[in-house]
Amino acid sequence: MSETLFEQIIDREVPADIVHETETTLAFRDINPRAPVHVLVIPKTRYRNVAELAAADPRLLADVLSTAATVAEQEGIAEAGYRVTFNTGDDGGQTVYHVHAHVLGGAPLGPEAAPR
Ligand code: AMP
Repeated sequence: MSETLFEQIIDREVPADIVHETETTLAFRDINPRAPVHVLVIPKTRYRNVAELAAADPRLLADVLSTAATVAEQEGIAEAGYRVTFNTGDDGGQTVYHVHAHVLGGAPLGPEAAPR
């Protein structure tokens, strides 16, 4: 598998606004935020999407979700509520094929998907 942008962020070859790091995960602000708080959480080991991660390493998926919860607490949005999404595949809007959770909040977010 060729390297994605997110491996380069993990390796500190590309700068990012890192807000939290654990042994297995990294959280950094999305460069193009779609909410007042928009943080991406990635596992340091690459899987293409959440389905592959869930099948291969459920414990690592739990780490990603746990880091998402920690980030929400840290950003002060846990109590008001927030959204965690995994865009998956082209129709799901995925553009970077290293699985990542979007943690979105800081304002009412509206409906989950655009109406048809
Ligand atoms: P997705 O479209 O679900 O694959 O999400 C990829 C996300 O990565 C998008 O929301 C982009 O805005 C974000 N992104 C792209 N480049 C960077 C970067 N250098 N640093 C932080 N976020 C980025």
